[in-house]
Amino acid sequence: MSAPVIGVLALQGGVAEHQRVLDRLGVAHRRVRRPADLADLAGIILPGGESTTISRLLRTEGLAGPLAAALAGGLPAFGTCAGMILLAEEVLDTRPDAVRLGALPVTVRRNAFGRQAQSFEADLAVRGVAGEVHAVFIRAPQVTAVGPGVEVLARVPAGHGPHSGAVVAVRHGAVLATSFHPECAPGEDRLHRLFLTGCAGIDLPAAAGETGR
Ligand code: GLN
Repeated sequence: MSAPVIGVLALQGGVAEHQRVLDRLGVAHRRVRRPADLADLAGIILPGGESTTISRLLRTEGLAGPLAAALAGGLPAFGTCAGMILLAEEVLDTRPDAVRLGALPVTVRRNAFGRQAQSFEADLAVRGVAGEVHAVFIRAPQVTAVGPGVEVLARVPAGHGPHSGAVVAVRHGAVLATSFHPECAPGEDRLHRLFLTGCAGIDLPAAAGETGR
């Protein structure tokens, strides 16, 4: 049997960064640009970028419907930043015609950190991850409301003014999403591991500091 393959939506944005993390973890992956690329995936990553641009390309490539259907059928997904926006059921401050894949019952506000903090970094506690995660936020969204069954995994810590307490990582079943970019923090693979443990058939190498069992 061939190894399970993780798709990386590759219409625009930080595609290569996610592919590098998957390479480090020894996980097979494929760029997803057209509906046929969705065949037999064990999971899909929606990278950061510009959600309205990705949205437009999802439509022109005929991918919006097939991807939404695959997600509705239970395809595990991991969205970072723009990827989180695309997965959300409701999006504030976006174009009315933007694609909503509807795989995550949350409300997300685009560019929610405002002008002064378009980009910032913070060390976060993330539920399900040992130790702190160095989170890089780039014109990031915030989750402003969560639906039933959504687990809040991380919030902005104290000391970040009005943004302290904002929800920036959530999980709903096999769908994980972060406002920040774990693929941009050197050596960080723990959020990817969290996602991949929900994807059928993926064998992960032991984490640093973890003894083999
Ligand atoms: N602000 C972007 C958007 O609305 C997301 C930024 C990112 O993915 N780094 O799509």
